[in-house]
Amino acid sequence: MKIFNTMTKKKDEFIPINEGKVGIYVCGPTVYDYIHIGNARPMIVFDTLRRYLQYKGYEVNYVSNFTDVDDKIIKRANEEGVESIVISERYIEECKKDMAALNVMEATTHPKATEEIPDMISMVETLIEKGHAYEVNGTVYFRTRSFADYGKLSKKNIDDLEAGHRDEKHKLKVSGEDEKEDPLDFVLWKPKKEGEPSWQSPWGEGRPGWHLECSVMSKKYIGDVIDIHAGGEDLIFPHHENEIAQSEAANGTEFARYWMHNGFLKINNEKMSKSLGNFFTVREIGEKYDLEIIRFFMLSAHYRTPLNFSQELVEVSKTGLERIKNTVSRMKEILETATVDSLLDSEKDYVTKVNDFVAKFENAMDDDLNTADAISVVFELCKFANSTATSESSKELINLLIEKLDMLCGVLGISTKKKEVLLDEEIDNLIKERQEARKAKNFARADEIRDLLTQKGIILEDTREGVRWKRA
Ligand code: AMP
Ligand code: ZN
Repeated sequence: MKIFNTMTKKKDEFIPINEGKVGIYVCGPTVYDYIHIGNARPMIVFDTLRRYLQYKGYEVNYVSNFTDVDDKIIKRANEEGVESIVISERYIEECKKDMAALNVMEATTHPKATEEIPDMISMVETLIEKGHAYEVNGTVYFRTRSFADYGKLSKKNIDDLEAGHRDEKHKLKVSGEDEKEDPLDFVLWKPKKEGEPSWQSPWGEGRPGWHLECSVMSKKYIGDVIDIHAGGEDLIFPHHENEIAQSEAANGTEFARYWMHNGFLKINNEKMSKSLGNFFTVREIGEKYDLEIIRFFMLSAHYRTPLNFSQELVEVSKTGLERIKNTVSRMKEILETATVDSLLDSEKDYVTKVNDFVAKFENAMDDDLNTADAISVVFELCKFANSTATSESSKELINLLIEKLDMLCGVLGISTKKKEVLLDEEIDNLIKERQEARKAKNFARADEIRDLLTQKGIILEDTREGVRWKRA
């Protein structure tokens, strides 16, 4: 498989450090609110990378963090008058629900920054010992110029960066923060401010800097060298550049072999972001569309190209997904009426054709995860299935078509099954039946109905006026 590596700026053949195994680290969200669909793009794209590597037989160790200590979380906590942890835990849970609805597999490990503080302190100590960091008044800074390769990922020249900071020295002096040796130095550990969460450290009470988290968590859960490090392209500089500086300076080895960055999800050709206010949360979109459609939409473009979000494009994805599901359900209908069990001689060529489609799909995915082309192949296979299978076909051929469509869609994290949506009337009837079961003290049946409704995303609420329900 070839992967476009931001470090080399070309498609490199993927060779894992340990044969048959892959360690992937994906920078996760800062949990201070519901995630927006821009945040969902890296989640979906790199989950698909993981699924494809697993399909190819690799054992994947997939690590993605939650940044649960941050200025934005603290701000939100202060607004609500609660502890930071209340905010971060709430939005971690909500984020996990969104990820599940987008069919993003749970990471092997989902570390939280606040649970990794001792290891962060020890990495800072190592950096100080090695002369790469220094402490001033409770703040520890990374000495950027001490790391000769600084800028190698973002292709920035350290002297140009310095020039960009020309006025900074003056600004820092004005704000009283002129304690840095060099404006390029960045924070590893910051001292506690009133009302902020903090931990004891050799430099007094404080909290870690954002960049440090990922260096520490990837080391702990994957190792000093990771195979693939991924995230959105806005993270290349300074976040990933700083991660490289910290990790390589502390560990004395290369940090990540392959760097993958997804392009932005845009709206009216502008990056979707919280700060611009031009975003939709996954939750909002989930009220209008089955989130599987959003996943399919995200994969309809190559992950490195910008993707414009619009209702028209989502509608196209909806129709496309229906086409796949209709094909599979039609194959299942034909299977019921088919009478011949084993492959007919006349069908042997068809098997070769089906295998060719699978190979074509793999070629697309091997070419830097080209899901757009891979989806075209799934459509071609649907067209082939619809024009080839009839009730005179053998069950073996029809099953093969179903199996391969299932398999390829599975790699994309898409189900070929039609989702059964409960209509309002059916829900009302089930609720009536549950009430009657309760009256008859048949609690097992009552619970069964409640579980069934929960499974279908229907939430029941017992009120004095009776049972109310809503869709989750
Ligand atoms: P954040 O919580 O802002 O650190 O973002 C979490 C992840 O979402 C990072 O990998 C970002 O690069 C990514 N991201 C944020 N906005 C977008 C967007 N509009 N399109 C694609 N990825 C995004
Ligand atoms: Zn990171």
